[in-house]
Amino acid sequence: MSERAVICNVGDQEWTLMRTHGFYRIPKPAAGQKFALLIVADRTDVIDNGDNHRLEVPIHARKIAEDLVADLGDFGVFVCTGETPAAEEIDRAERRLVEVAKRLVFEGDQEWARSHNYREISDLHRRAVKRLGPEREWAYEPTEMTACPACGERIRPGVAVCRHCNAILDERKARQFGLTESTAAAQARRRPAPAHARQ
Ligand SMILES: [Zn+2]
Repeated sequence: MSERAVICNVGDQEWTLMRTHGFYRIPKPAAGQKFALLIVADRTDVIDNGDNHRLEVPIHARKIAEDLVADLGDFGVFVCTGETPAAEEIDRAERRLVEVAKRLVFEGDQEWARSHNYREISDLHRRAVKRLGPEREWAYEPTEMTACPACGERIRPGVAVCRHCNAILDERKARQFGLTESTAAAQARRRPAPAHARQ
């Protein structure tokens, strides 16, 4: 009797996994979708004992599926109990994603406070910020940043006013948003940048 198992992914990454019995791709949810599925069927593994003795070993779909998701629980991937994911199963996986993301953002904050080094921040940490918000200075790729010509601090390209020294970097844009030199300076006095944004 041929069986199947259904792997569900509510996370934001797709996974490609190699096993002796095959190659598996767990898709990520398409835009606007809550989850994506991979149906796994029974397979046969061939064990070569040498001297032309090849042993064919059937592997059940559920066993394959459970092995594939073994390290992916923190990433929103699980084996469905039934043929389709139950609402509680999706909820549980999503709650776990949020818990993991909270932990990663906390770690990122600590790492940033310690080293202030983008190289010490992993993609996992950056993705966690994307998932949870709010924005973090450390969550931008170093290549997305540029240096302020006035003070040399790292800033996002295309900003009208430097967040560190309040220099106006794009006059047209600054005027368009009412950020003249005096208002920018006044805003800076009223609302100092948060401590983590300062050097
Ligand atoms: Zn500056």
